[in-house]
Amino acid sequence: MKNQYYDIPFNPKLIGNKDHPEHYCHKCNGRNIIWNVDNKLWNAVMGNHSDILCPICFIELAEAKGIKPAAWRLSCEGNWPEKGI
Ligand SMILES: [Zn+2]
Repeated sequence: MKNQYYDIPFNPKLIGNKDHPEHYCHKCNGRNIIWNVDNKLWNAVMGNHSDILCPICFIELAEAKGIKPAAWRLSCEGNWPEKGI
């Protein structure tokens, strides 16, 4: 199966799992992860709307509103195993 937009193999890991509303993006139906941004940025992008978005869709909306930082930062929240690093 091919992706509908690009001539690359379809990747099933990018499909959202509908077993829970937060497991898929309500904009693109792609996989969603547990993530957050600070309230100031969320409100600047989303205004009064509340929705469940994947990080990519959130970034697309932010950039459409002129919020275009040099880079987006990915970080861990909470404990994570540091073994082997
Ligand atoms: Zn999405």
